[in-house]
Amino acid sequence: MAVITPPKYVKQVLITLQSRGYLAYLVGGCVRDMILGVHPQDWDICTSALPEQVQSLFAHTVATGIRHGTVTVMVGSHGVEVTTFRTDGGSLDHRHPEAVSFVGDLTSDLARRDFTMNAIALPPDGLLADPFGGVEDIQKGIIRCVGEPERRYEEDALRMFRALRFSARLGFAVEEETLHAIYRKAHLAVNLSAERVRDETEKMLLTKSPEILSLVIETGLLDRFLLHRGENLTPQFRALQALPRKAMPRWAGLCALLEQNGMITSAGDFLSALRLDGRTIRCCGDCCALLHTEPPQTKKSWKKLLNRCGVDTAMCAAQVSDALRGGKCREALRAVLKSGECFSVRHLAVTGDDLVELGLRGRALGEMLDFLLDYVMDYPENNRRELLLQLASGTEEN
Ligand code: ATP
Ligand code: MG
Repeated sequence: MAVITPPKYVKQVLITLQSRGYLAYLVGGCVRDMILGVHPQDWDICTSALPEQVQSLFAHTVATGIRHGTVTVMVGSHGVEVTTFRTDGGSLDHRHPEAVSFVGDLTSDLARRDFTMNAIALPPDGLLADPFGGVEDIQKGIIRCVGEPERRYEEDALRMFRALRFSARLGFAVEEETLHAIYRKAHLAVNLSAERVRDETEKMLLTKSPEILSLVIETGLLDRFLLHRGENLTPQFRALQALPRKAMPRWAGLCALLEQNGMITSAGDFLSALRLDGRTIRCCGDCCALLHTEPPQTKKSWKKLLNRCGVDTAMCAAQVSDALRGGKCREALRAVLKSGECFSVRHLAVTGDDLVELGLRGRALGEMLDFLLDYVMDYPENNRRELLLQLASGTEEN
């Protein structure tokens, strides 16, 4: 297994804290990833220093989440999040602690963390601190709540999404009680903002196991956005794996599956409720509409589709069609795009201005452009200015 060590700028922050007599540890996702032999996405430090002590110790800091004890220390262009040891008080909204208290000891800080694998700390020059058996769980590939799962989900409903997301991302099993408690507490997910649910869903869609969403649905975590939970969805949802790991085709694939199972009224309604952006809503809506019809059979019908929906949506629909119903739409579409043949008035060898010069105006001009486009879709080699001008002026005389 590759030995991963923290970069110099991270060590510098740890050692500076330590040199002033504070405790300082790497903690959370970065320690988990180091044990797994994966390069961490970011490096988090926890410390006994209070936020203002951290601020006074380093020349460049950003008060990222000062109320929760987090200060970002800037080392050159790098930022390292440094958070004071804390415990979180109870939560009324099942998401945010009512109050956080700074504490002096590491174990209390680790106890507030979500899963055993995320509750391990590594000092700059010592042994791992692992009071909840996180290393063993990582070795066994298990996601387990720190403490009593139901209570932990009551404090923060987001943890239920995180459990399933980490399971999909790391290929880990969710420990029995940690999973069962999700079924029992899924209704608390109504307290999460739609944007949070969207972000978690998208992260899951982008893992190598997007079929985890069938379990998210089965547990009831998405009830608020669905008409019903469907049945035996996992085999169908595995088809999502075949889609490129990009947000657009994966959201489109998810919408198509939910539509197929009668679980949403439309992709547009579902994605709007989840606060997706306008472009994604439009593209997924168009993709789902296209999936209600047979895929194009001829080059010309592909070109017509490209003209109607644009390249991105057509490609997305082709990918979803191949993944969900088999076939070679993607290949067919690529061949059309590669041919460079015209499918839009923008690529016609004549412009609207040319037609104005021929005396065409308004509706007649629009109809002529459509006519010429249809013509060059049939005869791509005839997309030549002289020839099209001749065709257009000829028609005007009639
Ligand atoms: P990633 O690689 O996705 O960043 P991560 O484990 O680092 O994974 P973060 O969201 O960056 O996840 O959180 C950093 C650490 O903070 C976690 O490892 C965990 O210890 C703690 N944490 C984050 N969110 C929660 C939560 N909702 N409840 C309890 N602890 C949490
Ligand atoms: Mg992280």
